[in-house]
Parts: sequence; structure tokens; C-alpha cells
Amino acid sequence: MTDVFHDTISGDRGLHIEEPLIFEQDSPGALGVDWPQVEARPDRLGGLAREGAIGLPSLAEPTVVRHYTRLSQKNYGIDTGLFPLGSCTMKHNPRLNERLARLPGFADIHPLQPESSVQGALRLCRELQRWLMALTGMPCVALTPGAGAHGELCGMMAIRTALDARGEESAARRRVLVPDSAHGTNPATAAALGFQVVSIPEDARGRVDLARFEALLEGGIAAVMLTNPNTCGVFENDIRRIADAVHEAGGYFYCDGANFNAIVGRVRPGDLGIDAMHINLHKTFSTPHGGGGPGAGPVVFSEALAAYAPVPRIVEEDGLLRLEEINGAALGRMKAFHGQMGMFVRALAYLMSHGSDGLRQVSGDAVLNANYLLRRLEGAFSAPFAHAGPAMHEALFDDRLLRDSGVTTLDIAKAMIDEGLHPMTVYFPLVVHGAMLVEPTETETRASLDRFTAIMRGLAKRAKAGAALSEAPHHAPRRRLDETRAARRPVLRWQPPGDAKRDVPGV
Ligand SMILES: *Cc1c(COP(=O)(O)O)cnc(C)c1O
Repeated sequence: MTDVFHDTISGDRGLHIEEPLIFEQDSPGALGVDWPQVEARPDRLGGLAREGAIGLPSLAEPTVVRHYTRLSQKNYGIDTGLFPLGSCTMKHNPRLNERLARLPGFADIHPLQPESSVQGALRLCRELQRWLMALTGMPCVALTPGAGAHGELCGMMAIRTALDARGEESAARRRVLVPDSAHGTNPATAAALGFQVVSIPEDARGRVDLARFEALLEGGIAAVMLTNPNTCGVFENDIRRIADAVHEAGGYFYCDGANFNAIVGRVRPGDLGIDAMHINLHKTFSTPHGGGGPGAGPVVFSEALAAYAPVPRIVEEDGLLRLEEINGAALGRMKAFHGQMGMFVRALAYLMSHGSDGLRQVSGDAVLNANYLLRRLEGAFSAPFAHAGPAMHEALFDDRLLRDSGVTTLDIAKAMIDEGLHPMTVYFPLVVHGAMLVEPTETETRASLDRFTAIMRGLAKRAKAGAALSEAPHHAPRRRLDETRAARRPVLRWQPPGDAKRDVPGV
């Protein structure tokens, strides 16, 4: 079917219109507004006045409106269709959250307003803290980190501060153990803080190899960073034993909580011996992300680390809430002001509208959907850890069944675009050859999962029948890109025609 590709005269296809850059649409003299004539004034710029034009394009208003409307239609998001990116938790964001986040009392306040005038907002922050502490079983939470990666930085800074407070300067106390399957932000965070990253191998069950892990603890460590459920989509069942071993070795246990949606309402990280964990509000508790808006990565702390949490803290005095900046606090601020207020409103709206029973159902449905996908795709794609028990919230496949066909994981991902499906996460986690990590989330219906699996089974069948998918996508506005060149030499600056001699590759 894909070999019938007709070029159109215009380059447009169907109602899909090619859109040049706004600078390329410059039509000198065209204007959307009438400017008043500027009176001549004495030069007050000390001779620094600009002499040439500033180079903005001239366009009529309808041209501008069409340009931005067309750009907006090129966006693919969770509101357009299934968004199966594993590890990212792209799920439906209830509109109720948006409605509440836009209430003027939350949307229009300023962080420099007197505290007495933002009591409601502070109360909301404190209520969100209360929910997060209850769900995680942890005694302390810092709301300010602006994303998951920023939360990791916050948690690991607290750990470093706690270690420094103990006054142990040994080289062993600079080692941080991170599994091979970890999200890249884990080793990056540890390395950015000057820790030495030591990788923990996985065993055949897609979990931490305990014997090798325990050997790595010899001589002491600063911390271990684990994700649970991990990025292979399985629960680390030895987590209590891991936590005890880490504590016995004098280290701290950081947990990457990006996958909390798989266990929320069922397992409390505090009961697992975790010392610090970030929660991606924008993954677990809805709210748009991935280009759709800012994130928020609050960090919960155990008793052992609570004293090293960042400021500000919300305290109540004489019935008034205020933000306390403790002088001489071990760890200062993670950012200016008080965090992503809009995300806090959305997350609390999500939490309160689900209630504790609803949240329990969220994790149950997320896990059910992932296991449903695993079963429906059995025989079409191979699942490397299927023998190790049921998956959690994501379904991990590898390219074993494709190997003889010559079709790669990338080919499958590109062929999905032709089918109107956003590809899943590919080639991650790195420990699995040709990995395809699919996270359906609890908000996809059974009909939507059936459609997805029918298409995926069809693609696998075609691949095995010898179809060349290496040219896909055929129907997308752009075909295969030179991804290496795009990454190494990104062109991020438009240059006026005739200016091409100034070949500035990106920056
Ligand atoms: C998304 C994710 C992160 C990073 O979170 P951001 O909010 O994108 O910074 C870290 N670890 C895992 C496992 C993730 O899925």
C-alpha cells in the first residue's frame, strides 16, 4: 500500500499544508496594523540608535493567523490520539484540572505578593504536601523542584549535604550506584554533583542483580539510585533487602519516582526504606508535559534526610500561613520563588477528584492495560522479561522476533507514523536490544488498545513477510531525517537569502 505515493503540485497533501517559516513569508510593505507617524525627537541614545531595519517580517493579519494556526495543527499530543511513550506517562489530563488552574485566585497571583494576600494558595500547597506525604508514607516534602530531573538534583544534594554533615570524606562515600537500565537523568545528576557513578548490572529477570549489587557495596557508598517499578517495567521485589543493605553500608537510598503511577495507592515508598524520591506531578498526577507545559518534581524525604530538605517551608503561625526561609538551613533554595503553582493546582485537583479509592484504581488500570498489551502482542513481538512474571505499567519488547526480517525497531516506529500512531519509546532502556517501551496508561480505552495492537500485529506480520519498511514513513510531511546530522549540526537560526555565506551551524 505504501508504494503508491503521489507527489502533489503544491507539495501540500490532503488538507495538510506545507508551512514556510514566517521570515520566508515576508512581504515588505504588508502590515496588519497602521502605525502612527513618529514625530522626530532629539537623539537621546548617545549615537547608539539602530541604523538598519531590525529584520522583522511584514505580513497581513490573516497571513499571521493562518501561519500560527497551521503550526498549531502540526502538533501531535495526547488530545489527538494514543501517545504510547514508555517511561513518560502521557495520559489524559482531565479538563477539570485546567478549569481550576485558571481560577484568577491561582492564575493571577504574584510570588512577591504579601503572604497575607495569598493564604488560599499557600493552603493549597500545604494540602498538596499532605496528600503527597500520605501517599508516599514520608514525613517531609519539598514542592519547589521544577521537574523530575530537578527533583533528582534536589534529593541528591540533600544526600550530599547529609554526608558532608557526617564529616566522612572517604572516596567510597563519593560512589553512587545506578542500574544500567536507569533513565539518563540518574547518572547525569550524580555526575553533575561530583559523585562517581558505578553501574549495577541487571539479571535475567530485568531486576537488580543482588549478588553483584551487594559486592559493590563493599567499602561503602554515598547512595544508590533506583527506579521502582524500574524502566524494564517490572517491580524490584527485593527492594526491602536492597534498602537494608544500602543503609548498613552507610549510604542513602534515592528512588526515581517517575513510575509512581504504577503503584500509587498500593505501595508507600516510605515503607520500602527509601530516603528521598521525586514525584513527577506531570506524569503521575496528569497535567500536560513534553512540550505541553512546565512540569513539577516535588521530592519526599525520610526522617533521616528531612533536616536537609530545601527551603522555603510552609509554616502556620497564629492561623496565618507563611513561607519560612530558615537562616543557615543546610540546603538553600532549589529555585527562585515557590514552585510551579499551576502544576500544584492541577495535581491537587487530580488527587482530590480521584480520592484514595480512585488513585488505587489508577494504578490498577495502568498495570492491567500494560499487561493486556503484552498478551495481545504475544507472538508478534518478543517480550524479554515476560518469563519473569507480570509487568507493571509498561510493556517492554525487544527486536528478537524481527531479527531475521531485516526490519529494525526504528523501521517499526517509522511505519507506525504512517498508521497514524505516535511511536513508542525506542532503544530505551539500553540494556534491551532494539527496545520498544510501550506505556498505554490507564486512560486508554480497551477499543483504543485493540486498535493499537491490531496495527502492531499487522506491522510485525508485514515485517516477517519481507516488507521493506526502511523507507517509512511514506505519508508523513517529512520522510526519514538524517537524525545524526540533525543532532550534531542543528540549524537553529534563520538566515536571510543571500546571507548563506555566513554558515553558522546552529549554536
Ligand atoms: C521522565 C523521567 C525522568 C525525568 O523527569 P523530567 O520531569 O522529564 O525531568 C526521570 N526518570 C524517569 C524514569 C523518567 O521517566
